[in-house]
Amino acid sequence: MIEVRGLHKRFGDHVALRDVDLEVSRGEVVVVIGPSGSGKSTLCRCLNRLETPDAGEVRIDGAPLPAEGRALARLRADVGMVFQSFNLFQHRTVLDNLTLAPVRVRGLSRAEAEERARELLDRVGIGGQAGKLPAQLSGGQQQRAAIARALAMRPKALLFDEPTSALDPEMVGEVLDVMTGLARDGMTMVVVTHEMGFARQVADRVVFMADGEVVETGAPAAFFDSPASDRARDFLAKVL
Ligand code: ADP
Ligand code: MG
Repeated sequence: MIEVRGLHKRFGDHVALRDVDLEVSRGEVVVVIGPSGSGKSTLCRCLNRLETPDAGEVRIDGAPLPAEGRALARLRADVGMVFQSFNLFQHRTVLDNLTLAPVRVRGLSRAEAEERARELLDRVGIGGQAGKLPAQLSGGQQQRAAIARALAMRPKALLFDEPTSALDPEMVGEVLDVMTGLARDGMTMVVVTHEMGFARQVADRVVFMADGEVVETGAPAAFFDSPASDRARDFLAKVL
């Protein structure tokens, strides 16, 4: 579903991504881990063209990424993204957050969009919060609303960039539970996270990045129990 070949991205003199290859199959959950600054966010952002790569190729379902216009809006609907900082529209209700884009980009009627939004809010456990503004919700509830908003577009795949890093510790579990449910339901997911328990239990595959490169990739048990590279061993010694 997602194919990345030879991806390069630099910011000025700094090389953020160096010859990155990645494949994600339909229904697969790939967890990306690595030290701060290793290029994890940049990789995610290249997958739905929030960043423009300098070289290399990204294909979604076999098609290269569109650069602009309606095709790009559709791509971002197909490959949804959930950010560390929730990024909800602060002046709109939770319900509006879930209905605006499906009406505009997917062409749903207001009634269809609202029915689906209410189902999704129930699914992530915040059905009672539909009429509130984001600021009236806890961080965990806001992040669950952000996940529901991405789901409202019926995405082919979802990208998560450290979705629990901004949360108070007691709210991390409720967001990881929603993500685990999505994984079990067969959603194709790329998840950047420092939650090693989630990586071990939910990932089909772990990708370890350092210095802009994919250093190793493997099944979670093999990666965590016997990492092949020194850089992965050093990293795991610090975080586990
Ligand atoms: P990670 O998510 O793994 O912490 P990032 O992908 O955010 O890493 O960043 C990789 C490197 O690229 C870092 O050195 C970061 O400072 C740099 N970088 C990321 N985005 C920008 C930007 N917009 N401008 C300049 N440098 C950037
Ligand atoms: Mg990052």
